[in-house]
Amino acid sequence: MRAGFPDFRLGKVLATSFTGTLSERHGEAVERIPTPQRLIDWLAVNGLAVDSCTTAQLDLARELRESIHAAATAAAIQGALPASAVHVINDRSAQGRAAAILTSEGQRRWRLSSASCVEDALSVIAADAISLIAGERDGKLALCASPTCQAAFFDTSQSRTRKWCDMNTCGNRQKKARFHANQRKNPRSAE
Ligand SMILES: [Zn+2]
Repeated sequence: MRAGFPDFRLGKVLATSFTGTLSERHGEAVERIPTPQRLIDWLAVNGLAVDSCTTAQLDLARELRESIHAAATAAAIQGALPASAVHVINDRSAQGRAAAILTSEGQRRWRLSSASCVEDALSVIAADAISLIAGERDGKLALCASPTCQAAFFDTSQSRTRKWCDMNTCGNRQKKARFHANQRKNPRSAE
């Protein structure tokens, strides 16, 4: 990873990995895609490689990210979806042209219409968010239990009782804090 920038948090779910590029929204926020180049890096790691990204495209990406965060948060608490967020997600979904490609090894890849088309990559992320929020996938949207985080994540655990967006950061921090504060809590609930 490039020196001087916060590392990415890698998850298995594209849309919530994307919203995780801003963390600690309710504390000291950490922006993990502070520059167009970092968005390029993030997209490459997530199978959506692009050659270039303008600051305007980075703005579009961040607007989509916060819209997914808002809509996924509403979905997690069974609230009404914010209309402005839904509008942005739908716009980004409609404005890109990406094709799902089946490789001979049986894997799915995304082919973008051009290597400079960040909008295509954003459309894939928007479509992923739509499938999550629409409840099409096996799992449940939930909010991280860390008060400074409260990130929306997709819980695919069998019991649907995952508490934290990320075990290595929020989970560990909370676990340690709770352990010291109240040892009666069952540490196994931290999964
Ligand atoms: Zn968290």
